Amino acid sequence: MTASAQVKAESLETVWDRVKAHLRAEFGDAAFRSWLKPLTVSSLRGGQVMITAPTRFMREWVVTHYIDALKRYWNLEEPSVQSVDVFVKPTAQPQLVTLAGQQEQASGLVTESVFEAKAAPIVTAAPDVLEQLSASLDPRFTFDTFVVGKPNELAYAAARRVAESPVVSPGCNPLFIYGGVGLGKTHLMHAIAHHIRTTNPARKVIYLSAEKFMYQFIRALRMKDTMAFKEQFRSVDVLMIDDVQFIAGKDSTQEEFFHTFNALVDQKSQLVISGDRSPSDLEGIEERVKSRLGWGLVADVHATTYELRLGILQSKIEQMQNNGANPDVPQKVLEFLAHKITSNVRELEGALNRVLAHASLVGREVTIETTQEFLRDLLRSNERKVTVEDIQKKVAEHYNLKVSDMHSARRSRTVARPRQVAMYLSKKFTTKSLPEIGRKFGGKDHTTVMHAVKKVEELCLSDAEFREDVELLSKMIAG
Ligand code: ADP
Ligand code: MG
Repeated sequence: MTASAQVKAESLETVWDRVKAHLRAEFGDAAFRSWLKPLTVSSLRGGQVMITAPTRFMREWVVTHYIDALKRYWNLEEPSVQSVDVFVKPTAQPQLVTLAGQQEQASGLVTESVFEAKAAPIVTAAPDVLEQLSASLDPRFTFDTFVVGKPNELAYAAARRVAESPVVSPGCNPLFIYGGVGLGKTHLMHAIAHHIRTTNPARKVIYLSAEKFMYQFIRALRMKDTMAFKEQFRSVDVLMIDDVQFIAGKDSTQEEFFHTFNALVDQKSQLVISGDRSPSDLEGIEERVKSRLGWGLVADVHATTYELRLGILQSKIEQMQNNGANPDVPQKVLEFLAHKITSNVRELEGALNRVLAHASLVGREVTIETTQEFLRDLLRSNERKVTVEDIQKKVAEHYNLKVSDMHSARRSRTVARPRQVAMYLSKKFTTKSLPEIGRKFGGKDHTTVMHAVKKVEELCLSDAEFREDVELLSKMIAG
């Protein structure tokens, strides 16, 4: 490569870095990490930028969701740019090794067919063993009954992709879905399993909670039969493990999970894992396990919005009607519930059911007044409550840190200062005492919290930029 070509290549990267910074600012960290960060720029010729995506699915997603922004920012940073095209070029990951053991050419535009070959299972477990292993699926948890909105569209799209793909989806293996309780993770996993079982019954799908995985493993240990335990998984095409955070701190289960995981990825089986937080934020899980979990597609389900909650309530009513019931719930009551029950979907559904049951039991009409009466305690607990965890999450996001940094003992300024801000905001926005707040920050002393509060107050007076940060965060937290 000549010297001038080298400079050109470097400057293209620099422009791309600036384009990416714009994209990150516009779409936020989560979307950026999932969809935009994996893209690479390969050339700029005659006003046309060539971008490559690691999988066809990602390419499609990027083209439908981000192409306009890509064009806009490229053109902004490099006015000669007229068009942006996205191509598929898998990154060289071990998954790309074909059965013959040859690495796909890194330069070729590879289609997904290279992933289709799947090693024959070495040992096939008897079907009933597999049946036993898999937890039963809730028949109501299908894609049809899942209401899609902004907070869950990414997780939904990824789940559909995995369910519909006849073979393991490159770039989506593992699919890691995370988010708070009651936001639809289990629903999506069951939906994947239902879909595969009906459209492609030959594929063996196993769904189990991490807890059950551990229980099975311990039982195998006790019966000195860990070989059989391992072999059960060998013939599985799709393994789904729900609530992986459960194995935190359980070292031998983690070890086994890790081996199972690797064996399945090697034989090109699809993995779908859920957790209550992102792989990098999981605590008590070994680094190598975390890094493996985040290797494919990481999709989060966010807290619900009003629109999504209302959509879910309406869909529940429709389902009841389809089942022959005739629930008489005025639209106003649905809107009232969607406004008031903001914690999660499980509580929202529970509230609707309670109102219906109560009304029919006492023979009264469903109105806003009766709803308020039936749900008095629930409504009280759903009054907007800010938690220390919410604050830690917002602050970590704002300063580009991990939530785990909020609990760590690291003293470097870049971590310690945001942690002090989070402590200050916890004091300001929650009713927690100083010792309680300290405990939530990795077991710190109440004097540490007191010091943090003072420090932040001082800095707000002396440093305008810092004050703006704190004010912005306060606004976001107060909602
Ligand atoms: P999680 O596993 O994230 O804790 P679940 O999947 O168990 O949550 O969901 C809790 C309840 O809320 C379930 O009854 C599920 O059907 C319902 N639910 C969650 N999200 C949605 C959605 N987007 N559309 C319809 N129902 C939903
Ligand atoms: Mg769940």
